[in-house]
Amino acid sequence: MNAPLKSIDTSLNARAHRVAAVSSRHADQVDAEGRFPREAIEAMKAERLLAIQIPTAFGGEGASLSEIADVCSVLGQACASSAMIFAMHQIKVSSLVSHGADASWHQAFMRRIAAEQLLLASATTEAGIGGNLRNSICAIESDGEICRLEKDASVISYGKEADAILVTSRAHKDAAPSDQVMTVFLRNQYSLEQTHVWDTMGMRGTCSDGFLFKAEAPAAQILPHPFAEIAAQSMLAASHLLWSAVWYGIAVDAFARAQAFVRAAARKSPGAPPPSALHLAEVSNQLQMVRSNVVAGLNSYEDALVHPDRLSSMGFAVAMNNVKIASSEMILTIINRTMLICGILGYKNGTPYSLGRHLRDAHSAQLMISNDRILANTSNMLLIHKQDTNLLG
Ligand SMILES: Cc1cc2nc3c(=O)[nH]c(=O)nc-3n(C[C@H](O)[C@H](O)[C@H](O)COP(=O)(O)OP(=O)(O)OC[C@H]3O[C@@H](n4cnc5c(N)ncnc54)[C@H](O)[C@@H]3O)c2cc1C
Repeated sequence: MNAPLKSIDTSLNARAHRVAAVSSRHADQVDAEGRFPREAIEAMKAERLLAIQIPTAFGGEGASLSEIADVCSVLGQACASSAMIFAMHQIKVSSLVSHGADASWHQAFMRRIAAEQLLLASATTEAGIGGNLRNSICAIESDGEICRLEKDASVISYGKEADAILVTSRAHKDAAPSDQVMTVFLRNQYSLEQTHVWDTMGMRGTCSDGFLFKAEAPAAQILPHPFAEIAAQSMLAASHLLWSAVWYGIAVDAFARAQAFVRAAARKSPGAPPPSALHLAEVSNQLQMVRSNVVAGLNSYEDALVHPDRLSSMGFAVAMNNVKIASSEMILTIINRTMLICGILGYKNGTPYSLGRHLRDAHSAQLMISNDRILANTSNMLLIHKQDTNLLG
């Protein structure tokens, strides 16, 4: 008699775990060689994860930001660079879904992303401006049906591997630095001349080299809403929440390694719990705080989606900034503490308790839009905004 065929679990969580299994096998090599995690990205495409956020009407699955954050945290436990690439791609998709759904070019492009599992990258950072997302030096030139753009983009993650790049610029040559648009450029519409090499302490697999970006494309590819609107209503929240989910994933894996270490030590001396067990309990508490912070942020985002006034409010912006600051700082405390628990076996590479990659990757969190910039932005809002202090919304 034939054995019954096992059905494959097609839930997002199961698909994310299958990708995580692939990316975890290559994580150390990706880190050591600073190379693009192609096996993980191929696995994401095979599981059709790249288009999950796109509405079903355009060929996707209409996944919510919370569901996507859950995938980010699963991937973050395996390989932070692959997880961050997935998160950055989804942040770009969120701009299309939220601000391109009424434009025919962008609708067709969403269908292509879903059908071909296209990978999107981002060029917001510019030489001379740094991480000040809401200012550009470069300006897009529109000449009838055609637009042209040249940008000295000091960081474009996986720029060489992407199928399209979403680029910010001033809206025209006389526009103020904050009067910006975002444009989708397809791989065959731009050239990249490398200006910086991404040889970094952590997040080495994101391959975030710098490039002189030059492009020409139909003007219809400019998103039909000002970038100010895109940043405030989708991009900042999506960035802070999905990045935080990736960072939470890194901390979860560090915790799991420390817990395995403490359990092994406890087995060696039954009846006398190892001193590090107390530290593990402390880390469990801190991990729960990061999780609660991210989940509260996601709930607040899902709530704001049905109350659009909230989405553009100062209270919402302050809350999203606070999620980013707290998670980017707390994960460093957590991973540092897990390193103390695992001792030299955590410090060494190539042990089941190694934490060097986690710690190095986690150090990028405070810089990914500098926490100083975010705090400066929050402090300006707090001059006029009353902090939301109600426990239940
Ligand atoms: C893993 C990773 C991947 C990335 N991928 C991309 C990508 O794909 N595309 C992209 O466009 N960018 C990307 N970035 C860039 C990133 O998001 C930031 O924009 C960039 O790292 C900021 O660079 P910076 O620290 O030199 O600049 P700045 O933000 O200018 O900070 C430099 C220094 O100036 C201080 N500072 C400057 N202005 C202020 C202010 N107003 N208030 C307070 N302090 C201030 C900061 O504290 C800091 O000390 C990536 C970064 C990382 C780490």
